Amino acid sequence: MIDLRSDTVTVPDQGMREAIAQAPVGDDVYSDDPTANSLEERIAALFGKEAGLFTPTGSLANQLSIRSLVSPGEELLAETNSHIVRAELGAAAVFSGITTRTWPARNGLLKAGDALEIARPDSGPYLVSTTAIAVENTHNFGGGTVQPIDQIKELHAGASKLGLHLHLDGARIWNAHVASGVSFLEYGKYFETISVCLSKGLGAPVGSVMLSTKERITKSRVWRKRYGAGMRQIGILAAAGHYALDNNIERLAQDHGRAKKLAIALSAVDSTLIDPATVETNIVGLDLSSLPISAAELATRCKAQGLLISALGPKYARLVTHMNFDDAQCDEAIEILKKALVA
Ligand SMILES: *Cc1c(COP(=O)(O)O)cnc(C)c1O
Repeated sequence: MIDLRSDTVTVPDQGMREAIAQAPVGDDVYSDDPTANSLEERIAALFGKEAGLFTPTGSLANQLSIRSLVSPGEELLAETNSHIVRAELGAAAVFSGITTRTWPARNGLLKAGDALEIARPDSGPYLVSTTAIAVENTHNFGGGTVQPIDQIKELHAGASKLGLHLHLDGARIWNAHVASGVSFLEYGKYFETISVCLSKGLGAPVGSVMLSTKERITKSRVWRKRYGAGMRQIGILAAAGHYALDNNIERLAQDHGRAKKLAIALSAVDSTLIDPATVETNIVGLDLSSLPISAAELATRCKAQGLLISALGPKYARLVTHMNFDDAQCDEAIEILKKALVA
């Protein structure tokens, strides 16, 4: 089976397994795990932040971040199709009493004005007060969209004027960096809190890291335990993260190249499916609205031929390239998709 459902489906290679086997470990609830500590410090330094906190999932890193920025009854602004709004099962409301309000953006592409226009800080006793804005980079459901650094800067300037905090959902910030050439330090400058995933394109089996000030991380460490995610000898997981940072960032360019190749081949079948120019990273979102086939039906046909894809909407299918998907499989996937689309 060729699996393009997500970049989370990768399995650790031999080198990563060896790094895991050799990791020095300790009890992380006592902050005694040297490998977890060094990973947190390493990623914090990479983004110019004071401290980091290892979490089992990206959702938890996002949730710890936004609860540190937004008090119960206050408002977080996010794009309509962002992961925080659509794919974290209402966690911000359930666990933190945070309300969200959203702005829609084509392909999830950030325009600072869209967010700033709907921001309402210090709204008094009648309307909800906005306290933070979340940015997703790259934008997952937008099709792996890289957020332009000039828009991030403009959002930061506007948010600062209004006294609002910015959170970065950087689950795929690695892909954004490789595609744009913008440094991690530069991305880090504009956000009070950041979450990054090690288990997407970087290929680690588990793990995300929340980044922020020492003060916010110290408080979030308490909340992580309260959520039931205080973990023990997690150096075996953190070692996979170190290995991923050492070996798997620059190679993301290959995933981007294969995603572009898929997009070009599929747009030749029907130009309304995808505009290859919008494919900047490792995600190919297919718009099936002008074809007589549903995303679910396309996924079923592909599966019968040995290709797994995601049906994320009635007419929206998603392909995600990753380190366990090579050039030969790319050619094979194109043939399967072409036949499935015209069948
Ligand atoms: C995958 C992902 C996350 C985190 O997901 P988990 O499954 O909780 O690790 C967060 N944000 C985005 C944009 C993602 O794609």
